[in-house]
Amino acid sequence: MSSIFRRRRPEPPTQPPPEPEPTGIDCSVPGCPNDNALTCDYRDRRGHMCQLSFCPDHGDVIQGVPYCRRHASTVRAIGSLATDPNARPDVNDRTPSLVNWISRELDGHIRAQLEATAREGETVVVDDAVHLSRDHNRNLRWERSWRLVEHTGLVLKISISVSEENDALVRINVGSEMVADGIPPWIARRRMGEDVDVAIDVAQRQLFYKYLQESIANAVAEFRVGGNRPHGH
Ligand SMILES: [Zn+2]
Ligand SMILES: [Zn+2]
Repeated sequence: MSSIFRRRRPEPPTQPPPEPEPTGIDCSVPGCPNDNALTCDYRDRRGHMCQLSFCPDHGDVIQGVPYCRRHASTVRAIGSLATDPNARPDVNDRTPSLVNWISRELDGHIRAQLEATAREGETVVVDDAVHLSRDHNRNLRWERSWRLVEHTGLVLKISISVSEENDALVRINVGSEMVADGIPPWIARRRMGEDVDVAIDVAQRQLFYKYLQESIANAVAEFRVGGNRPHGH
């Protein structure tokens, strides 16, 4: 601090590091002592609001709007859909975040599979966010997809989806076939109220992703062997 600054502002004698302004609202995270929380501003398509308040350590601000962690993750997952109040998932719906989470984990693998199988004139097109679609039974599902396309249209589509009627089951489609489905191990454990070591958690996650990756790789290989006919839509 310069001497000029000190002369101008004699008090306080030592400047404390900038502290987030107290809002007088306690953080909703159990055990967190902070009382500088902001209330999550998430409002779903039915007008229901999140009731939770989070301090800066436990919440997030996206484009000037404060969110709890869960809803920050939802808003990131749905991308530009978040700006449409009628498109926002229900306040308790974790599905878009789950699809986005699995998508980020598998993105590199899926791109590599499609790029490796691409023939001349075919390119890979990737969704930049999770969006709503319907399955063949007309059930709503949150989905993210990767497409191999050529000038005449779609060659092959790979999608990761979770439907609204079973919000823990992750499904992978390659073309029109569902090639893998499963409940992520951390969700299965949460449902059972189980807690495990970090090492076991990591091992279970790796197995889960390995199963999904192998299922995708096998299906893409089979698609090429089976001939280059358009699959899915
Ligand atoms: Zn906190
Ligand atoms: Zn929230």
